[in-house]
Amino acid sequence: MVRVRQEEEQQSIFLISDLCSLLEEYLEPEQVAEVYRAYLFGAEAHEGQHRVTGEPYIYHPIAAARILAEMHMDHKSIMAAILHDVIEDTPTAKEQLASNFGEEVAELVDGVSKLSHIQFESKAEAQAENFRKMMLAMTQDIRVILVKLADRLHNMRTLGALRPDKRRRIARETLEIYAPIAQRLGMNTLRLELEELGFFAMYPMRHRILKSALKKARGNRKEIITKIEISIVERLREEGMSGQVFGREKHLYSIYKKMRDKNLSFSEVMDMFAIRIIVDTVDMCYRVLGAIHNLYKPVPGRFKDYVAIPKSNGYQSLHTVLFSPYGVFIEVQIRTDEMHHVADVGIAAHWLYKSGKSGSNSAQVRAREWLRGVLEIQRHAGNSMEFLENVKIDLFPEEVYVFTPMGDIFELPRGSTAVDLAYAVHTDIGNQCVAAKIDRRLVPLRTHLYNGQTVEIITSPGAQPNPAWLDFVVTAKARSNIRHFLKNLKHEESITLGKRLLDKSLTAYGSTLEQIPKKQIVKVLKEFKFKSEDEMLASIGLGNHLPIVVTRAMLGTKEKRTPLWRKSKTPSQPLAIRGTEGTVVTLAKCCRPIPGDRILGFVSKGRGIVIHNQDCKNVADFRNHPEKWIDVEWEPTASGDFPVDVRLLVANKRGTLATIASSVAQMDANIENVNMEERDGMYTSLNMTLTVKDRQHLATIMRNLRSLAIIKRINRVKG
Ligand code: MN
Repeated sequence: MVRVRQEEEQQSIFLISDLCSLLEEYLEPEQVAEVYRAYLFGAEAHEGQHRVTGEPYIYHPIAAARILAEMHMDHKSIMAAILHDVIEDTPTAKEQLASNFGEEVAELVDGVSKLSHIQFESKAEAQAENFRKMMLAMTQDIRVILVKLADRLHNMRTLGALRPDKRRRIARETLEIYAPIAQRLGMNTLRLELEELGFFAMYPMRHRILKSALKKARGNRKEIITKIEISIVERLREEGMSGQVFGREKHLYSIYKKMRDKNLSFSEVMDMFAIRIIVDTVDMCYRVLGAIHNLYKPVPGRFKDYVAIPKSNGYQSLHTVLFSPYGVFIEVQIRTDEMHHVADVGIAAHWLYKSGKSGSNSAQVRAREWLRGVLEIQRHAGNSMEFLENVKIDLFPEEVYVFTPMGDIFELPRGSTAVDLAYAVHTDIGNQCVAAKIDRRLVPLRTHLYNGQTVEIITSPGAQPNPAWLDFVVTAKARSNIRHFLKNLKHEESITLGKRLLDKSLTAYGSTLEQIPKKQIVKVLKEFKFKSEDEMLASIGLGNHLPIVVTRAMLGTKEKRTPLWRKSKTPSQPLAIRGTEGTVVTLAKCCRPIPGDRILGFVSKGRGIVIHNQDCKNVADFRNHPEKWIDVEWEPTASGDFPVDVRLLVANKRGTLATIASSVAQMDANIENVNMEERDGMYTSLNMTLTVKDRQHLATIMRNLRSLAIIKRINRVKG
């Protein structure tokens, strides 16, 4: 046992010293020392932990760091790779890392941990693109992605130790998410290895069959490829050009993808030999191209100049396809050394250590510099638009990406709220949403969404959009749907209310709308310039036309003084308020009337009727406009949750608010809002808005609260 541990320790020391000697090739000694310090910290943090492979855990972060070292990444990325799994276990790890190794390394490690927490579940192919964007959007520093890719690559190399189902899940994620991200960042070598390992783990059978087919084909073709290589080399020499010529092996996964996507047979894909020529200068690229086009005829339409017009990730090369004398095609890539290096490591090339320039190491600045470099190349090529769309937006998205509970990903503009998501999912979901859960915690609908959150929208069949949502939604879809709904709703509600008001007014004269002759109605419509009866009713409901004025016109009465119905002997029935009339009947915020209160209606232009308590102070202001009063009363069956204001004087004690809240909840009411103001050392004055069913319900609540020892005084506030 002891011997095993000693061996393991020795192995880990061997791994770290090997890494350090690799780092010494391009980093300053003090930077390598920092990396070693990170190793000591990581080794201690992972002490006693083992991977599924049985190896000590620390082997894995060292291996991930080595992958980055091979790309000559900066020492902070290397440190982050060594520490990338330590934050998992302890909640204080981030602060600890910051004080030991600085903010930058701590942020990198934290970023990697956050990425590791989101998992790709969806089976839909289109979702993979959103997931990739989500990962990039979550990343403030592009090095986080590079560390994550290195982490993933080493996990893929050691995948064999896992259960088959787990292996396949990780392989699929690698093929659909990580390999394409590596490709987008131009990191070809890493991408190819991820694809190869992912293909093997995902489809072991297909991998084996293709591999043996490839081996057989290779044997058959060896002679031909050698002949072609030799004739190219000779031709270049004859022309006095220099360049290295390599026969290129096609990668299994790319053969497989070609067969699958283009529906080709193995021999059709293998119909092609691949050759790469590396030269010194850009100029030489074109000269070599001329020489080989002279040697073998090019296939028309297959030449691509990625030197003049680079791919969106910065990749540069000349591509051409030639007819060979052996009945096969030859695919040729021609590029400079530098282009070759960029094609290998892509964005990582940017962190290449340059002596004496270690000052400007803000990662974001560097990533942008890389982008600017690519942009510059693109501008020369004259198609920077493609670049802007493909690379910049991908690296620094303006959107947020969130999951639904089903694992689907939705892309929304920054600042979007739960309501925006609800409408993005479906208009009906938006119209009926009442609350949301973010990462299983209940939140208000106005809550802003952030990358990687799982958001569940809670709907209720009877629910309706709230005009207040318009204050915080950001998507056009949510906005227009809410507006549309409210407009329709208000129109219908105002027609219903208008009909009730007009009927009430007519009843006072012993008539009803049904009794008025059609001809007379048409005449009145014309007189008031209404296009339809509905428009007239809606206008009355909205308070734009007074019912009494329309009534007089209907009956042909000339009376212009005080409304007749006020004097009439026929007792006029007050308009019954149900509380569910919607936006055309509003309860005044100053006095917050509730069922059971004596109330008064006041017609307000464009808004319909506003209901006040009869003893509200503001009612006095309306005295001078009796024509705008409406006689109203609560319908006995009025029901709903009505807000009401109360003021309490409570003891200054710990837990007072909780006691009140639980007492209120027990009585089936809600606290909608609380305002606290310090009174003196002993008592605090609280202003609370409760939602209650009616006056009786409120009385019960107040009685119960009054019985609590902590409450000194409680009373309802009306204006
Ligand atoms: Mn890891």
